[in-house]
Amino acid sequence: MIETAKKTETRLDGIGVSPGVSWGPADILGKSLEEPENVAISRTQVEEEKARLSLALVATRDQIIELQQEIADAEGENHAGIFDAHLLLLEDSTVLNEVLRICETQLKSIDWAYFSVVKRYIDSLRKISDPYLRERAVDIEDVAKRLLKNLRWSAENKDVGSMSEGTEIVLAHNLTPSDTVTMTRANVRGFATEVGSSTSHTAIMARSLNIPAVVALHRIPDDLRVGDLVIIDGYHGTVIFNPTEETLREYEELSRRDDALVESLQTLKGKPTVTADGKVMTLSANIEFVEELREVASQDAEGIGLYRTEFFYLREKKEREEENQFENYRKVAEATDPHGVIVRTLDIGGDKLLPELVEHPEPNPFLGWRGIRLSLDRSHEFRIQLRAILRASAFGKTRIMFPFISSVEEIQRAKDQLEITKRELEAEGIAFDRDIEVGAMIEIPSAVMIADHLAKEVDFFSIGTNDLIQYTTAVDRVNDRVAHLYEPTHPAVIAMIRETVEAAHRNQIWCGICGEAAGYLSLMPVWVGLGVDELSVGSSQVLRMRWAISKLKESSCRELVEKLKGIGTAGEIRRLCEEVADQAYPELLL
Ligand code: PEP
Ligand code: MG
Repeated sequence: MIETAKKTETRLDGIGVSPGVSWGPADILGKSLEEPENVAISRTQVEEEKARLSLALVATRDQIIELQQEIADAEGENHAGIFDAHLLLLEDSTVLNEVLRICETQLKSIDWAYFSVVKRYIDSLRKISDPYLRERAVDIEDVAKRLLKNLRWSAENKDVGSMSEGTEIVLAHNLTPSDTVTMTRANVRGFATEVGSSTSHTAIMARSLNIPAVVALHRIPDDLRVGDLVIIDGYHGTVIFNPTEETLREYEELSRRDDALVESLQTLKGKPTVTADGKVMTLSANIEFVEELREVASQDAEGIGLYRTEFFYLREKKEREEENQFENYRKVAEATDPHGVIVRTLDIGGDKLLPELVEHPEPNPFLGWRGIRLSLDRSHEFRIQLRAILRASAFGKTRIMFPFISSVEEIQRAKDQLEITKRELEAEGIAFDRDIEVGAMIEIPSAVMIADHLAKEVDFFSIGTNDLIQYTTAVDRVNDRVAHLYEPTHPAVIAMIRETVEAAHRNQIWCGICGEAAGYLSLMPVWVGLGVDELSVGSSQVLRMRWAISKLKESSCRELVEKLKGIGTAGEIRRLCEEVADQAYPELLL
């Protein structure tokens, strides 16, 4: 039995970015970069200050390299790639020259000079509306905290590596990628931050490290103290501070049920995904990094339905070379054969910007140079990626998918590039699958409206609900101010999905869903009723979904879908879906 606190319980809702439930005594990490004292120095001290900076730079560099090595060993090279960027930031000569100039001309301590320069960069990055760029401020802050700590020769600036004795939950204004990777070492069982989004490096790493996490809480209660008990509910995006005994019992029970459920789900491994009345579906997994393959296999996913290639590609320039891309795709193709992998070509743009484009931000990046538009404009790089994918197709079942398709011309031009690449490889005598299947992501309303035409050009569709919801309802998917309007059950969204599946089937091609909504358990009756052929989800969801599908009857799901046609509100559609889901698999809806 867990000990309970006598303080008042507070519940806050944020965004659950990594599923699971955990609790324990919490530590509260420094809110942000701490300002050192503004100390004046004499002219004779300048050299001493410069020497201090040199020593701190060496120490910081060594620490970053050590951390990088540790992460590379434990999680793979891709996760460690972020620290290359940290090393570059640490040694940025524009920053360091300015720091030295302030120290020499204004006679300020090197700590204060460094802080004032770096703070200015961080503040300007934070004002940028683009969330990806805002996240870069976290990296600079990460490096700056480390350097300032080394300058002080003291451990007073607490980070994840120096958490208070006995604490297991981390609460912070924000966490840096290096904080997140240090968590496994520090035995952290869960974390929550005041800011953040599900596209941040921190969220991505939390998911791959399997640590329950909630971001965008907006505040951590002021009266919370180190050691207070905190529950992190990554399933529902809720954090409970100083829970009552009753709440704790509730969560102990939830956790017991979750453990028991996970245990019984194991019996589904190796079994097909089939409804109670015999309709077979394919259940595959979404990945961003090769390192996730282990989890995909252990959760028994039927291949990869969406391999987002832009995340590893954004890390380092060398990742873009053909050999590197080929190695990544080959490993995935080999590991997932015979089910196979759907490799999505780069979907740069929106909230995922190329570092070299960061200096020229677009006013509206989600409606801008994104996905296939960028690939078609940079055909040389596009063909490098196509070459790498085609070469990998000789090693295991591989399909290609083009993102952000809004017109027939785009898919035709993309296929033209594929044909040119195939001819190149043929001329060079390099093996590849000549009949490689090609698919289009349907995630823009215009694509839905011309789905019959698009279907004649491709072998399959995969619906990207993350974007389809955003573009259908004009709700920015990364803006938490309008997050309450982001409705997967909006009748227009359901109609768009229905139209897409029907157009695919009219043209004898298959249709899947690979956006987050594919894994919403309460929407499973709709996907079954609409006749969706494949669902691709985060691997931790696979067995739960196989279970849910096994409890549903296709015939009753069809009836539900017919009924939904007459309904005009998202709330009522949600209610009806939940009713069916709750009757079929109440044990899953924890
Ligand atoms: C989607 O839009 O639903 C999707 C799967 O792609 P991404 O989230 O990478 O835009
Ligand atoms: Mg998308």
